[in-house]
Amino acid sequence: MRRSRLVTLLVSLLLILFTGCSRPVPSRSEFVLGTVCSVNLYNRGNQKVYREIFARLREIENLMSANLDDSDPGRINNAAGIEAVEVHPDTIAVLKRAVRFAALTGGAFDPTVGPLVKLWGIGSDAGRIPGEEEVAAVLPLINWRDMVIDEAVNTVFLKRRGMRLDLGAIAKGYAADEAARIIKAAGIKRALIDLGGNILVLGAGRNGGRGSWRVGIQNPLEGRGAYFGIAEVADKTLVTSGVYERFFESGGRKYHHILSTRDGYPVDNGLLSVTVIGDSSIDADTLSTSLFALGYEAGSALAESLDNTEAVFVFTDLGIRGTSGAFESFTITDDGFRILTGP
Ligand code: ADP
Ligand code: MG
Repeated sequence: MRRSRLVTLLVSLLLILFTGCSRPVPSRSEFVLGTVCSVNLYNRGNQKVYREIFARLREIENLMSANLDDSDPGRINNAAGIEAVEVHPDTIAVLKRAVRFAALTGGAFDPTVGPLVKLWGIGSDAGRIPGEEEVAAVLPLINWRDMVIDEAVNTVFLKRRGMRLDLGAIAKGYAADEAARIIKAAGIKRALIDLGGNILVLGAGRNGGRGSWRVGIQNPLEGRGAYFGIAEVADKTLVTSGVYERFFESGGRKYHHILSTRDGYPVDNGLLSVTVIGDSSIDADTLSTSLFALGYEAGSALAESLDNTEAVFVFTDLGIRGTSGAFESFTITDDGFRILTGP
């Protein structure tokens, strides 16, 4: 019963939203930024706004993908150890945000993680377990302090040959904020943005009233769109990072895509996922990866220190812990999961 209901809901939406009685304008979905991106403009949505949003998402992909030679990271990477490269001011803004979180996490989050991402074949069909010597060889290349940003002239320089930027943990958050900006500028008050599970809800969920949206929280044991709980929020962004995205299996082990900048292997700290609920999607995206990489102790301390930021941590035994305000708007809907209290 529960399963069949789940399947029905899954088919109807990538992420489950209960939006009250108003009838949604059909949403638009496209494959961009390496994932399925959907936008639903409930009020006064029109094709022109959809076109503008998806054109902007594509522009961000072309500007910020690490896998394109002529993107900003592509050009910066190709000039690593050689020269500084002039980039778009948007890239500078994203990199400054990345640097802020790299500093806050002591480098657990690091935008120069690129050599490791490449080595593990993350985001490609060629995922593989690298040899220990290969890992040891690239680790010294990962250090955000060796990235020089000159805001006066919009240039970026990676000091050493072989260094590589990777904005995979942050670009979708930036893109969601950009989509929201376009929607607000068009005078649309209510919308859902879902960039591959990176969710941003604008306005009230129910009929223009003061109601909240009901947003499913990704179940880290299942594919994208399955949820284990629901957050009731308005004007918020929810971003989950976890072991369920971009992983491969070998010898009965799962190798996922959030890499430890300390040992060079997929982070292995008893967590299955971290969901961040906040106001800025670029921050929530960066933080979900950051908190996952930091682990529960340091991660929850960091989240508590930031304004308007809540986080939900899911452990391998399906226990859940959250920041002090996390459960105010949160209900578990899958009884396989349980909230842990106490130490
Ligand atoms: P998703 O792609 O599912 O939204 P994340 O936002 O957590 O997931 O980003 C994961 C991506 O971030 C990886 O695919 C990789 O490109 C990059 N990445 C992996 N480890 C790190 C790290 N320690 N610091 C910064 N970026 C990382
Ligand atoms: Mg992220």
